[in-house]
Amino acid sequence: METHAVIEAAGLAKHYGNVHALAGLDFSVERGTVLSLLGPNGAGKTTAVRVLTTRTVPDGGRARVAGYDVAAHPAQVRRRIGVTAQDVTMDGLLTGRQNLQMVGELSGLSRRAAKRRADELLERFGLAEAGGRVAKGYSGGMRRRLDLAASLVADPPVLFLDEPTTGLDPTSRAEVWGVVEDLTNRGVTVLLTTQYLDEADRLASRVVVVDHGRAIAEGTPAELKRSVGGARLHVTLSAEASQETVVSALAPYVAGTPRLSGGCVSAPVNGERGLATLVVRALDAAGLLVDDVEVRQPSLDDVFFALTGQPAAEEVVA
Ligand code: ATP
Repeated sequence: METHAVIEAAGLAKHYGNVHALAGLDFSVERGTVLSLLGPNGAGKTTAVRVLTTRTVPDGGRARVAGYDVAAHPAQVRRRIGVTAQDVTMDGLLTGRQNLQMVGELSGLSRRAAKRRADELLERFGLAEAGGRVAKGYSGGMRRRLDLAASLVADPPVLFLDEPTTGLDPTSRAEVWGVVEDLTNRGVTVLLTTQYLDEADRLASRVVVVDHGRAIAEGTPAELKRSVGGARLHVTLSAEASQETVVSALAPYVAGTPRLSGGCVSAPVNGERGLATLVVRALDAAGLLVDDVEVRQPSLDDVFFALTGQPAAEEVVA
């Protein structure tokens, strides 16, 4: 284990009956950075967070958070962490301000200090005006921000965000991202779990791709993208076509076998000049109409597909 890591997991294992939710998961998070655990539904992300936040005991392996072993010193760990879960935990009948004040008092602040802290956080999270209204009237994004604010009442140096933007609209997601960026700028260490590759790409300095309870790849978003190679061609055809027709039309221009799914074609390319033009001409000559063509650098989606053989995020959700 690295000594400067604020969060360290080594060989974490946890099973529920026959299901190995964690099967030897290793990772570490350096101070003031965001590490993203990225994986499809059921990969083990939430279980890892539950272990690290002392809510469940692992069957094997070790974990330390802020210098304390989670199994030996759970109270010390809890004192140093903030947690936001997938389900918002605020009391809808209280106002935003009352919710934060209550959390402050429960965490040992005096009434006055809790009030001051609530006002500070409402201001910082853009909720100063909404602070006097009951939380059940808040939008999804406002509730998540209030939830984030609540996890920060005690000013924890370590924050666990479990799928903080699942189910949010794009504007609310961007709001939450802004808050997380602000926190890391202040030196908070964040473990972020997400199914969204764009979220990991945007926020994380390192990404651990989790599948079936273990890390199957790790690196910066850029390293992971590089690991799957160069640019890819993406073509949307107007109608489905046979693999044979597409492969023979594109053979001179692609650097590997095209992947065909519905009317969408994707293939690695070397990025020669005029490639999009050449591809459209070749497909046209083969009698295929093209709706869209793009040559782009790999995304974390491509990384995920290359590693697991399945698309990530929405497409995996049943
Ligand atoms: P999601 O994105 O859906 O939250 P995840 O990556 O967080 O998925 P986990 O919730 O950690 O995955 O679940 C990992 C596996 O362990 C799944 O197969 C899940 O069904 C199983 N599991 C998790 N918690 C329990 C539990 N309390 N009892 C039984 N099985 C569980």
